[in-house]
Amino acid sequence: MNDVESHVALERELPGEPPPSDLNARARRVLKHLDAVLPDLDALYRDLHEHPELSGQEAHTAAELARRLKAEGYEVTRGIGGHGVVGLLHNGDGPTVLLRGDMDALPIEEKTGLPYASHVTTPDGEPVMHACGHDIHTVCLAGTAALLARSRDAWRGTVMVVGQPAEETLQGARAMLEDGLYARFGTPDVVLGQHTAPLPVGAFMHREGVTMMGSDHLRVRLFGRGAHGALPHLSVDPVVMGASVVLRLQTIVSRELAPLEAAVVTVGIFQAGTRANVIPDEALLELTVRTEDDAVRARVLAAIERIVKAEAEASGAPRPPRVEVLESTPVNRNDPALLRRIRDAHAGWFGSGALVPGMLVTASEDFPRFAQGPEHAVRTAYWFMGITPLKAWNEAPGTTPEEKLSHVPGPHSSTYAPDREGSLRKGCESFTVAALACLHAGTASRDS
Ligand SMILES: [Zn+2]
Ligand SMILES: [Zn+2]
Repeated sequence: MNDVESHVALERELPGEPPPSDLNARARRVLKHLDAVLPDLDALYRDLHEHPELSGQEAHTAAELARRLKAEGYEVTRGIGGHGVVGLLHNGDGPTVLLRGDMDALPIEEKTGLPYASHVTTPDGEPVMHACGHDIHTVCLAGTAALLARSRDAWRGTVMVVGQPAEETLQGARAMLEDGLYARFGTPDVVLGQHTAPLPVGAFMHREGVTMMGSDHLRVRLFGRGAHGALPHLSVDPVVMGASVVLRLQTIVSRELAPLEAAVVTVGIFQAGTRANVIPDEALLELTVRTEDDAVRARVLAAIERIVKAEAEASGAPRPPRVEVLESTPVNRNDPALLRRIRDAHAGWFGSGALVPGMLVTASEDFPRFAQGPEHAVRTAYWFMGITPLKAWNEAPGTTPEEKLSHVPGPHSSTYAPDREGSLRKGCESFTVAALACLHAGTASRDS
């Protein structure tokens, strides 16, 4: 710990007790119930995986989670920010620990061939699949909630279980907070979340500071002047204008940012025209931008605006272009002291060999919204849990994790097929151990 970090640590003590030496003993007392709850968790996982629900439509998932929380003695409220579920379990004096799991699936056609694969389609014929592992998140949340409820002598404090809808659209966390999550149920001392990763099952990855990039979704409208395709001199061609914009945008990361600054600028949509012989009036671009800090973000967004305007002007556009930021989500920044505590707890429980070095993930999450408390920032920690079956991992070409990762299915892939029992077991253990590391120790004697 350097001087700055120790100063910060002194300024605001972490809740719970100092890195607990008896944490493994407490974890054993809680996790001895795991074998008893696992059959129900496995059934729930198969059900959720086979019947995934798109963002904002998580009615069945929320009902199944809420039912289990109620049965374990939680005070349950549903319908927070859409299908959001909140379960509270007060168990004496101590910190409030929020455990967050997201519940939604993706519009992807499942091609895993698993016996419990999804065949769900929306009324519009859109396929739906749990391709991001949110079914595992929900089940591990339910499992951890049950384990903590069945071993109340092992800890003190309040557990706040949050089943979050609509993560994939980056709207659910904000919707829950705007619906009064903290005002109605209390501001937690810490917020914990975990996400599946294509690492081997049993491996965990933690990163201090920024663990996932912030994201901006931009829409750019370029205005030209349409004409007959055979009379291009009478037009201002928005297709050529758009093509120049797309190419020039590539120089932001390669030529404007310093080599070690990280950002992504991707043009995912480029639409213009309907006929080969018609030069259209307009072109539409949609971009995703990923950045790891606010200063880089501001520079990248300013560069996009500058390039789009300059290319439109260079083309002689009749009207200035329009650049809009449609949706943003902040960087996912782990509280350093909290993250260290969780990582140490996981190393103590799983063994340090289970931990892989933290890599910055360029994907984004709306989890960091939970850090925005009404009065002060709430400490958050977020880590990744491996779910790839060991056989698939061992057979993947390559020797380093980086090499193997490019050969196993990752999140948002139609063949993302987690090791079922291993993922549920390890995910419940990691969530439980992390929660116990933040709650106060219980009153009962060791190892009952
Ligand atoms: Zn996802
Ligand atoms: Zn996800």
